[in-house]
Amino acid sequence: MSILIYAESAEGKFKKVAFELASYAKKVAEALGSTVTAITFNTTDASELAKYGVDKVLKVNNPKLTSFTAKAYADAIQQAAKNENAKVVVLSSTTDSAYLSSLVAVSLDAGFASNVVGLPVSTSPFQVKRNAFSNKAFNITEITTEVKVLGLAKNSFGIVESSASLTEEDFLPTINDSDFGIKIESTEKASGKVSIADADIVVSGGRGLKGPENWGLIEDLAAVLGAATACSKPVSDLGWRPHGEHVGQTGKPVSANLYIAIGISGAIQHIAGINSSKVKVVINIDPEAPFFKVADYGIVGDAFEVVPKLIEKLKVFKAQ
Ligand SMILES: Cc1cc2nc3c(=O)[nH]c(=O)nc-3n(C[C@H](O)[C@H](O)[C@H](O)COP(=O)(O)OP(=O)(O)OC[C@H]3O[C@@H](n4cnc5c(N)ncnc54)[C@H](O)[C@@H]3O)c2cc1C
Repeated sequence: MSILIYAESAEGKFKKVAFELASYAKKVAEALGSTVTAITFNTTDASELAKYGVDKVLKVNNPKLTSFTAKAYADAIQQAAKNENAKVVVLSSTTDSAYLSSLVAVSLDAGFASNVVGLPVSTSPFQVKRNAFSNKAFNITEITTEVKVLGLAKNSFGIVESSASLTEEDFLPTINDSDFGIKIESTEKASGKVSIADADIVVSGGRGLKGPENWGLIEDLAAVLGAATACSKPVSDLGWRPHGEHVGQTGKPVSANLYIAIGISGAIQHIAGINSSKVKVVINIDPEAPFFKVADYGIVGDAFEVVPKLIEKLKVFKAQ
């Protein structure tokens, strides 16, 4: 019996969530007295996973699976779970994995709990803690099926190193033509930018920035921090920034380690999307702005004065 994880990668390299899943699965495996198996798709070097407690890797190398195809990936994961007699399958909460999780759960007749935060509260009965109501509440969910599928909320567990001696196997799942009902024709990537979904740090601007001509401030701070840039909804509605940067209830969710909100009031719909970020910093001229109530650190001041000073200090700090 093992715990199966889907170790996500992009262009052959593991994403950070793969290491978080491995770290998490290792701890669950210890509690259940089992081992951790990872399934990978078209990765070049799987050995890195050993550092985070993975015992075995099933490597799928199939040119047909170079682009993410939910049904085909789900079929492969389901076959791997059966092969390994996995009773717990752990996926992340990225867009791709959220899409996959329910397909995998259905094909395994498994109960599925999304937004899981932390280790199981109990393994018998199997209960997990989950985020609910846009991260404003937690609930305890019991999964009663023999096989359980968990969707781990991003950044909820962290990356923990623990060694394992890794065995690697090629895995050849049966993939049918009918798995390719949806085909990605082309992908256009914003080059040289950190994507919001993968970012550890996000610098976000709101209407307080006054206009698109001032976005250099956000971009300069993001550049010095190696961060992704984001914005509030009105900013993208006004066409100051692309819609892909809009975060919140109706935009992208952000689970960064550090979220810096500049000139954003902190409306409930904005907070709903960034609530699961670990450390929230707000820079706002109005001390009564609602964002200060949910922030870990707050600077009351004019962004046009504060941000350039912050950039300057960070540059000096980095140079040291
Ligand atoms: C159904 C629905 C869904 C929505 N979904 C979303 C969503 O997903 N994401 C989202 O963001 N919003 C969403 N909204 C909109 C949301 O309610 C707010 O209107 C929006 O978040 C406000 O954006 P803002 O904070 O950038 O602008 P404002 O509310 O105009 O706030 C600007 C802030 O900048 C500050 N400021 C001004 N000048 C400066 C300065 N020089 N330096 C520093 N600070 C300054 C002000 O004090 C103020 O707090 C939604 C609304 C609805 C009704």
